[in-house]
Amino acid sequence: MSDLVASPVLPDYAPLPASALGPALNEQGFHVGQVERNLFWVTDSVYVAAFLATPDGVVLFDAPPTLGHNLQRAIDEITGALGTPNAVTHLVYSHHHADHAGAASLFPTATLIGHAETKRLLLRDDDPTRPAPEITFSNTYTLEVGGERIDLAYRGPNHTPDNIFIHFPDHDALMLIDIVNPGWVPIFNTNLSEDMPGYMDAAAQALEYSWTHLIAGHLGRLGTRADVELHKAYIADVVAAAYAALASVDPTQYFVKYGANAWGWVNGYLTEITTTATRPVVEKYTGVLAAADIEALTYTTTFMLMQSLRLDKGVGSQVHP
Ligand SMILES: [Zn+2]
Repeated sequence: MSDLVASPVLPDYAPLPASALGPALNEQGFHVGQVERNLFWVTDSVYVAAFLATPDGVVLFDAPPTLGHNLQRAIDEITGALGTPNAVTHLVYSHHHADHAGAASLFPTATLIGHAETKRLLLRDDDPTRPAPEITFSNTYTLEVGGERIDLAYRGPNHTPDNIFIHFPDHDALMLIDIVNPGWVPIFNTNLSEDMPGYMDAAAQALEYSWTHLIAGHLGRLGTRADVELHKAYIADVVAAAYAALASVDPTQYFVKYGANAWGWVNGYLTEITTTATRPVVEKYTGVLAAADIEALTYTTTFMLMQSLRLDKGVGSQVHP
């Protein structure tokens, strides 16, 4: 290797809390587990999907491309043991994102179900791996297959404009994707979410349903109600810290230094606010939520929530006299 190529210095991170990790994967790189009765979850330790094995066929919930062909392998393993059909007859989209839906085209005979907005976004995105849903709904939809009931509900935009709540009333489970990462902090920008007030409300809305098992879409295990409460506490702490920093950080030095360069002082001011708000949250949650010590994650989440306080809630907004 050439001496001229500098090796990047890779930072070390805090050890993962035990609560971060789920079951070991098999040789093919997945784990399939029972949620309740004939509802199962599949993970590759980063993504999670679910399926219902009924006497009339399989209902699949999301098709992450990282799981890809392992979805059918997991289904074959379970349905082989149960003696039920292994064909995926229905596929429900939680939302339109490619990282949760990009293996949908592996199930060409399945009836695709999703929110009306999911259909619009998938037609817009025109990605052959994610065909638009054939059955759509606006507010609620009850899917009944093989004697099982699944309640789909739209509660407004949150992570995306189309993200839905998937409730399994007879399996004690809720599927809500990309809101709470059980045991982990959100990845950049509140899990790359679009609507901050909706994102913040979604965790509380999840707790309005009756369930014990949360299928949350990410990392390697199912979630619990305690995971949702911990997530809510983390977000509340970020919001409180952002409020405090908005009130305390003095922008004067940035106006003086950058003058007519408006984006120069905006950058300095908002960076100080975000850094100030991030610090205590990183400290409090390191060792509690995995990856809390990766500052960029909490920093970008704080930036998004701080901007939402300013732009959605009007915090700090002043009318020129
Ligand atoms: Zn997503």
